[in-house]
Amino acid sequence: MTFRLTPGTGLVLPAHAGVLRFGMSERAAQWAASTLADIRVDGWMCGTHWDFFFVYRDVTVTAYACTACPEQALGHLIVERTERVPVRAAAVPVAFGDLDLFGYPIHELSEVLDPSDRKLLLPPAVNLQSTHYLSAVSIDACEGARR
Ligand SMILES: [Zn+2]
Repeated sequence: MTFRLTPGTGLVLPAHAGVLRFGMSERAAQWAASTLADIRVDGWMCGTHWDFFFVYRDVTVTAYACTACPEQALGHLIVERTERVPVRAAAVPVAFGDLDLFGYPIHELSEVLDPSDRKLLLPPAVNLQSTHYLSAVSIDACEGARR
């Protein structure tokens, strides 16, 4: 029962639900995610062609195509804790390689991540000494508008 972030590819879903793969159509992405959880389409994000999200245990996943995404295909993924300021590991691991990004406080993550992965995965404003847990991580296939 693990989410697995694979930059360049997308997000492997837990419970053999499949993969949210960059370049997928909205329909294909919703189909993959709907085997895991109820999809919510609120159209709350501006500047996107489409977006949807779902909640699985204590993790929210948002998938979207921004206006710069080629062929309006999936180009951006955000994985967030449902808690605003998490003080413990998430119930569902969010793996990056061998590391559970939501399983350790930020200061421990920043010690073990390569500088390039740190830049890729951690928000620019994050305090690397923080003893809080990471509240969100995003990966993008497209250079266009990050949220
Ligand atoms: Zn985009």
